[in-house]
Amino acid sequence: DAVSSAEPQVETVIDLDAVQHNVRVLADHAGAAAVMAVVKADAYNHGAVPVARAALAAGAAELGVTTIAEALELRRNGIDAPILTWLNTSDADYGSAIEAGIEIGVSSVAHVRAVEQAARRTGTTATVTLKVDTGLNRNGVSDAEFPQVLKLLSELVAEEVVRFRAVFTHLAHADQPRHPVIDRQRDRFLAAVAAATEHGLKPELVHMANSAATLTRPDLAFDMVRPGIAIYGLSPVEGDDYGLRPVMTFRARVALVKEVAAGEGVSYGHEWIAAQDTTVALIPAGYADGVPRGIGGRFAVRIGERDYPNIGRVCMDQLVVDLGANPAGVREGDTAVLFGGVPGGPHAQQWADALGSIHYEIVCAPRGRVVRRYT
Ligand code: PLP
Repeated sequence: DAVSSAEPQVETVIDLDAVQHNVRVLADHAGAAAVMAVVKADAYNHGAVPVARAALAAGAAELGVTTIAEALELRRNGIDAPILTWLNTSDADYGSAIEAGIEIGVSSVAHVRAVEQAARRTGTTATVTLKVDTGLNRNGVSDAEFPQVLKLLSELVAEEVVRFRAVFTHLAHADQPRHPVIDRQRDRFLAAVAAATEHGLKPELVHMANSAATLTRPDLAFDMVRPGIAIYGLSPVEGDDYGLRPVMTFRARVALVKEVAAGEGVSYGHEWIAAQDTTVALIPAGYADGVPRGIGGRFAVRIGERDYPNIGRVCMDQLVVDLGANPAGVREGDTAVLFGGVPGGPHAQQWADALGSIHYEIVCAPRGRVVRRYT
């Protein structure tokens, strides 16, 4: 019917060819190391299942997610590649994870105990990976608990309650490739791997590198790399795009074009006042859709071949751009690109710069009414 066949007003268009291209770029940098595609948080808001499929088709060997629920969603959709999950509370559904053959990252004695109980209850060996804290001081086993975790794990491996798969850690300064903390984390990591091995816990693989480290520190690739953001085509390193292609285009269709007379104010609070007669376009996307209100007046949208500045405040459902004399003849229904994969067009990095944020947060923002489409 007319409603369901209407073009969406606001959409993110996800370019799965770009995902594949980016995975290949990362694999080239990783050399002999395998690629684990990080698809947590619904693949950074790009859609976990389609992105996972595209990444695997392009040669990624494994998938990484935060929670067991995220891992189970991939399994439910028929994805049978190895999946690692690394941040769960001790009362999480470890039983379902074990039965679905999901690899469980543990960061504490309590996590190991929870996995043990679930493995005994289900009568299934749990595949466990040790996350070590080497200086990020977030999740990962702390120095204080490390000996106890190793002892417990080696007992459980001996009993075949647990299969020990890997040791991994996460970097604090990967976006500054020469930061001294990186080398300190590497040294601590290698010491942790050696200690595990001495406890009879020889890992099948060790991994450390996120996107930034994959691209800038080949010495840290070890057996596998764990890129996230670069798979989505956003470079984690200032000043070099590594040939990555942005995957998400955030766009909307012009809802209205109208004249505004000199001296008239535009949008709430009239923060912008027309210096001369002008034409404006109304873009039906606002902060409810993931356009941060704080970016008002500090970005431009691309319509056709031109960029038009946002004027006045971003509202819940809409924002306004100034077309000037509208020489290109922008009309209702035209596509306005807020940011994304248009070469030379507005980029998530510009939004991040304007907001004092990072492009990760920008692509995670579109939501609610925004329709996601794949190409
Ligand atoms: N590995 C872990 C443990 C993570 O938490 C993340 C994301 O923050 C990644 C890898 C991927 O990081 P990035 O998106 O910077 O490549």
